[in-house]
Amino acid sequence: MKRKMKIEDLSRPAQQLVTLEPSDLLPLPPPYDEPRPLKELTEEQRQRYEASLDGIVGLGVTKPANAQEEEEFVAKFLSGLKKLLSKENNWTFIQPLLHSLDYCVKCQLCNDSCPAYLSSGKQEIYRPTFRPEVLRRIINKYLKKENSLLARLTASNIELNFTLLARLAELAYRCSLCRRCAQVCPLGIDNALISREIRKLFSQEMGIAARELHEQGTVQQLKVGSSTGITPKALANIIAFMEDDIEEKTGRKIKIPVDKEGAEVLLVHNAGEFMAWPENPQAFAILFDAAGIDWTLSSQIAGYDAVNYGIWYDDVQAARVAVHHAEAARTLKVKKICVGECGHAHKAILVIADRVLTGELNIPRESALPLLEHLVLSGKIKLDPKRNDFPVTLHDPCNMVRLMGIVEPQRKILRAICPQFREMEPHGVDNYCCGGGSGFAIMQSMNFPDWRNSVSARMKMKQILEAFADVSEPAQNKYVCAPCSNCKGLMRDMFEFYGATRKSNIFYGGLVELIVNAMVDLQKPFLTWEQL
Ligand code: SF4
Ligand code: SF4
Repeated sequence: MKRKMKIEDLSRPAQQLVTLEPSDLLPLPPPYDEPRPLKELTEEQRQRYEASLDGIVGLGVTKPANAQEEEEFVAKFLSGLKKLLSKENNWTFIQPLLHSLDYCVKCQLCNDSCPAYLSSGKQEIYRPTFRPEVLRRIINKYLKKENSLLARLTASNIELNFTLLARLAELAYRCSLCRRCAQVCPLGIDNALISREIRKLFSQEMGIAARELHEQGTVQQLKVGSSTGITPKALANIIAFMEDDIEEKTGRKIKIPVDKEGAEVLLVHNAGEFMAWPENPQAFAILFDAAGIDWTLSSQIAGYDAVNYGIWYDDVQAARVAVHHAEAARTLKVKKICVGECGHAHKAILVIADRVLTGELNIPRESALPLLEHLVLSGKIKLDPKRNDFPVTLHDPCNMVRLMGIVEPQRKILRAICPQFREMEPHGVDNYCCGGGSGFAIMQSMNFPDWRNSVSARMKMKQILEAFADVSEPAQNKYVCAPCSNCKGLMRDMFEFYGATRKSNIFYGGLVELIVNAMVDLQKPFLTWEQL
């Protein structure tokens, strides 16, 4: 149910501030237009976790047992907030954070750029400026006397208590950090950064982070080698399987290079590819072999998993993983690191890691997309577009496209090898997030997946259906090219949730698979719809 919300309501006791009704949500075209209520929490879950924001639990903050625990919770938060606003403790992001906190003129131009806000039917709490305003008010009321930098912020009306903070923590996990709002802001305010800094405060100061990102993600990656749980030994088995599979599919006996010292290129995939979509690293291997590229994979801890979940919630964890990535390259003495089809890994290794990789760890790092573009457009590999003669649309991963400006390589490839390529609207730097950004795609706690599919991913579902509106009949296979592991993870769940493959034969996959599918000297098609 939509109702007018005020910032100060966030501190007030209530069973649930917002209830998402199916009739409020962004309409989808038939046969996807049936109203579908969101899954409710069990009574036990409600008792245990603070879920009074919107009845959804992504993070799962447990309730304090007594008044003393509540006081400690608030005190820790304030201590973390002070650190967030100090140069010594937050040298990584203090400048854009202060700019974003200080200079918003509340024009609200950014609201209608937010897919979560629009898909929810404009629920006030998902407005891009709502979270930042909560933080500003806390700073004004509780810290400004202690920090002259903040004196120019206006006085605020807010009551600091456990309920407010637990709701704020959950709210930081209703923003996919897509930065679409930041792009339209005339003053360069980055509300996504503020969401991310709120997550960081809770993680670094209070030990509160999404389990899938921290314990099952970063901690596992640094311990066993990959956030998927794949150990170096398991990787060796997977690679042997991939070599057999390539031979079976193509008749080619390809030795996938691992730990090859001095190679030109260290290719790093999101390790989710090895588990869920092995055809993607297989396609890279086939293409690089055919092009004669001097490349290798690494079997070192984190060297075979480009994932760096720290960039979504914690600077310390992000730095640890980035150093492991660079160490893998340094040990192998490769000339450069090349990141496969993973958007957030692009941001982590190619952008954020600049803040920590210095000296001999500052190894050249680049995206695989321009290299793929070169291989396709140079004519080095013989390709026949007729092999990809089915409708294809392109999803733009936010981190590659909006953040880094890698817009054209993937389009030039698709225009060259997919005769029925069509754009989604809007696209390029104006794209909508898949809905799985910032960890959402892997967050599976309680009813969060329902919220993700119903709200966060809804705009993307609508865009995909519209892109294929002229070929909507189920007899026609359709392909959403998503050159990002994380986006593919979202699509896997979203297509299942909406029955997109069953109802409309919509499939998803990567970019390099389409390139290999078009290779003229492969006897059989590389893509098999049944396996997508
Ligand atoms: S973030 Fe930018 S666009 Fe949004 S309200 Fe503030 S100044 Fe306006
Ligand atoms: S970053 Fe994206 S999801 Fe978050 S508030 Fe901005 S537009 Fe919405």
